Amino acid sequence: MWATLLQGEIYRSRMINKRKDGSFYEEEANIAPIRNAAGKITNFISVKTNITPLLDVQRALEASNVELSRSNSELQQFAYVASHDLQEPLRSVSSCLQLLKKRCAGNLDARADEFIAHAVAGSHRMRDLIDDLLMLSRVDAATVNLVPTDSAAVLEQVRANLAHSIEESGARLIHEGLPIVNASPRMLVQLFQNLVSNAIKFRGDSAPVVQVTAKSYGGQWIFSVTDQGIGIEPQHFDRIFRLFQRLHTRDEYAGTGIGLAICQKIVERHGGRIWVESSSGHGSTFFFTIPAIPSSENTPIP
Ligand code: ADP
Repeated sequence: MWATLLQGEIYRSRMINKRKDGSFYEEEANIAPIRNAAGKITNFISVKTNITPLLDVQRALEASNVELSRSNSELQQFAYVASHDLQEPLRSVSSCLQLLKKRCAGNLDARADEFIAHAVAGSHRMRDLIDDLLMLSRVDAATVNLVPTDSAAVLEQVRANLAHSIEESGARLIHEGLPIVNASPRMLVQLFQNLVSNAIKFRGDSAPVVQVTAKSYGGQWIFSVTDQGIGIEPQHFDRIFRLFQRLHTRDEYAGTGIGLAICQKIVERHGGRIWVESSSGHGSTFFFTIPAIPSSENTPIP
């Protein structure tokens, strides 16, 4: 203590004291040296603070943090197990329905054919929901192995994966100036795939043009995926990233309302953020950030 004070520095210490009633409290003492006009230390000033209430709050916060991450990982586990285990019974329901449709269609009355068609459509919808939920919980639970990843190559992979809908819609997918970033290649494919497939799905009357670019800003890469589709009203900008939030009925546009929640999770797991800018009828641009890597490490894994 004296060495610190005589060097002119503040000495800090914590101690546990006992009250007259036998209870304990924690105290923090700050002792500072005071110099005279000639700069010589002549006195000391000491301030003591009872920090017990502060520590109580801090400990309660730490305990609730532990509890929160425990229940969070239990929930993740539950979502994963539930969606994974639901796949199997659904598969057998679907294949029985397919058989029923194949063997009995036309042999029963028109109502029965209609019921079978509804049941088949319902089982397809459930399959899509379970697949997307499983994807979401995988993104949640997986350890993210960040490796230098060429985002232009990722876009080419997305082009191959979406070949069918690109051809069917006559879409043009353009990208330029895409960098190498530290990312999970698989998650980056999923992220771009969800954004590009939405850009194609929510197209206007003309063939969709989807443009993907990136610019460097303040140690981050800001990616953008732009379309000229139906657009989104500003009051829905936040809501669409939440689970199951859709702005249209299934009859208008197919979907589960999970795609953008997956995108958000992927971006957050890479230390970035995602948002949209749009106006109804004038297309949308989805932006997301990924921290840039120092240029010396800028070599892609072959
Ligand atoms: P899904 O596509 O399965 O409906 P998403 O989570 O991917 O679910 O998207 C949520 C909602 O956000 C969509 O239903 C749609 O209303 C809106 N949306 C997403 N992308 C676009 C886009 N490019 N243009 C217009 N609306 C979009």
